[in-house]
Amino acid sequence: MPKIHDLPPDGIHAFICPGCGRCHAPDERWTFNGDYEKPTFSPSILVKTGHYPKPEDICHSFVTDGMIQFLSDCTHELAGQTIEIPDWDDW
Ligand SMILES: [Zn+2]
Repeated sequence: MPKIHDLPPDGIHAFICPGCGRCHAPDERWTFNGDYEKPTFSPSILVKTGHYPKPEDICHSFVTDGMIQFLSDCTHELAGQTIEIPDWDDW
């Protein structure tokens, strides 16, 4: 089952993030290996949300061979863990 869903415009490849519960959509600034079941993106994906004075939510990850490795600067509970990316259809 594919984990990647293409979004318009061309070159945006979205996946479901099990850490922050949102979808991340790296665009053409990232390299994508073209494998929809075992995707690899580089460089790392860093997403920050929230505005002062609320603390920022940070989701920072490496995606390699269909697995997502959350770095320790993530603010969600999967920080420091490596998890398989869910199938897109399960979202
Ligand atoms: Zn995330």
